[in-house]
Amino acid sequence: MAKKKSEKVTIFDTTLRDGEQSPGASLNHREKLEIARALSLLKVDVIEAGFPIASPDDAKAVKAIAELVRGPSVAGLARCVRKDIEVCADSVAPAKKPRIHVFLATSAIHRKYKLRKAQSEILRQAVDSVKYARKFCNDVEFSPEDASRTEPPYLAEVVEAAIDAGATTINIPDTVGYAMPTQFGDLIAYLFDNVPNVSDATISVHCHNDLGCAVANSLAAIQNGVRAVECTINGIGERAGNCALEEIVMALRTRADAFPNVHTNVKTENLYKVSRLVSSLTGMSVQRNKAVVGSNAFAHEAGVHQDGMLKERSTYEIMRPEDIGIEGSELVLGKHSGRHAFRHHMDRLGAKLNDKEIEHAYARFIALADKKKTIYDEDLLAIARAELAAMPSVYLLDYLHVVTGTNTVPTATVRLKKGKEIIQDAACGDGPVDAALKTIERMTATRGRLLDFSLQAVTVGKDAMGEVTVRVAFGQEVVSAKSASTDIVEASAQAYLSCVNRVLSNQGATPARKRGGSGKTRAA
Ligand code: MN
Repeated sequence: MAKKKSEKVTIFDTTLRDGEQSPGASLNHREKLEIARALSLLKVDVIEAGFPIASPDDAKAVKAIAELVRGPSVAGLARCVRKDIEVCADSVAPAKKPRIHVFLATSAIHRKYKLRKAQSEILRQAVDSVKYARKFCNDVEFSPEDASRTEPPYLAEVVEAAIDAGATTINIPDTVGYAMPTQFGDLIAYLFDNVPNVSDATISVHCHNDLGCAVANSLAAIQNGVRAVECTINGIGERAGNCALEEIVMALRTRADAFPNVHTNVKTENLYKVSRLVSSLTGMSVQRNKAVVGSNAFAHEAGVHQDGMLKERSTYEIMRPEDIGIEGSELVLGKHSGRHAFRHHMDRLGAKLNDKEIEHAYARFIALADKKKTIYDEDLLAIARAELAAMPSVYLLDYLHVVTGTNTVPTATVRLKKGKEIIQDAACGDGPVDAALKTIERMTATRGRLLDFSLQAVTVGKDAMGEVTVRVAFGQEVVSAKSASTDIVEASAQAYLSCVNRVLSNQGATPARKRGGSGKTRAA
């Protein structure tokens, strides 16, 4: 019997669109480009780079990614509205393989309460929009939003019409993460049986994780004939997030017996690296027990497990850490390492810095090597992140001195540089971090409300750097920043000051981009 040819499952990454919509995750322009570059090296098939109509910043980022990325297709999202499609078309135009992704809700609940439109009206709007998008681009994807809660016969009708109108991919979203694997698989099977022109388009799914079934639902869809999956790195996304790219890819690979005749082109050895990059740039940390990329995913604690592992790894290990690129933290550099070696290691870690940034980063590295005996890959990544996050600073931290103790009022003395001007002040607070932040607030005449403060050790050991992530609200605007240092008070002060700089430079040049509800258009 002839072996069936293996079919590719298209991996559509939406980390930069749905992922960036995660509450608390916001990426600056440069960080988005860095992630797009990492996704290209990971060899995903499609990068959804953003939602161009949402803001001029989004449109600019999508355009820059379209110019940068050469391997994968670059998609932009648009509602079924002419203006959205035009702005999206313009943004993805520089891509080698551009795609316009239009969406319109089809479920009864969305039709009645959100759109206030009849079935026939929605069908017509979808068809018109797909046709309009095809005027600009040969690759057009259509998503009937909330498909999993849409009446199947009506869904089949819309899908058929969208394919007739020229959609090359039809994506079936489980927008609210309501579906269950068997039922979702049945819905996909229903579409394959009831849409006469179904083979003229690629059928895709987009699953959310509200009930923890995003990956399971996507796998059920693949078993029923779907050949494209939308997913995000670390599963970040609206609410409980999306199908996790690393999980779906490793499930298909590890259980090739259960999914014969399909494969992905993802370079799995890059998964861990990209996961760490996305987590550090978005400030969304990966839970320790997260499948595939969590820091405990390959840790064996129980004695009986360790014994088994030593005798034969496959007793307790279904994937090898090296398959996803975990090599373990290794000592790579010391304070006697030169610039050349430093740049080489940065390149290896996937941190593309220009000459000026390398100079800065190298100075940081030497300063760190003075304080800390061993420099790990994670330390280098933290240094690289600090460079990538760097933006025109209004204020620079010049000096910080904190007095604290059991019977002392915590007091901070801070000196800041603003251009050539040097200002100094001191204040007390509830603790050393509070004292430092209060002083900075007073000196910069800003009023920030600390929404979130998290501290994580970058590596192991007592001399490990602490990475501080803060999220601060200045009126309506919410910004976040990170900083790493062996001194956690200094890292906190630096991170907070970055937020102040961010909000001041936003106020200066571009109109403030509001996050977290008001103003910004959100999508499926
Ligand atoms: Mn979504």
